[in-house]
Amino acid sequence: MCVLCRVPARSHRPHRMSRYVFARYLPGLVGETRRVCHVIELPDDGTVPATLTALCGQSFPPCVLEQMSAWAGMPCEMCVLQTPGTEKQQEVER
Ligand SMILES: [Zn+2]
Repeated sequence: MCVLCRVPARSHRPHRMSRYVFARYLPGLVGETRRVCHVIELPDDGTVPATLTALCGQSFPPCVLEQMSAWAGMPCEMCVLQTPGTEKQQEVER
């Protein structure tokens, strides 16, 4: 049984928030104005798909992104709107 949500292990799925990663283009690949921080939802099984699609609908090959553990730089507005629980994340580091 999962100690966090008390769901029997057999029917337990990973916690949603851990499946979201923050990512933006690596430096130098695009103009600084396009290096906004997107949120990407990963599949349940922990694999990384060949093409990563951000919540805003923009897709990326994995090799062009740097991954971050939280919002950094300028956030993608569409991704912010699509992210669950963003009410708590209004304070964005700039
Ligand atoms: Zn985005």
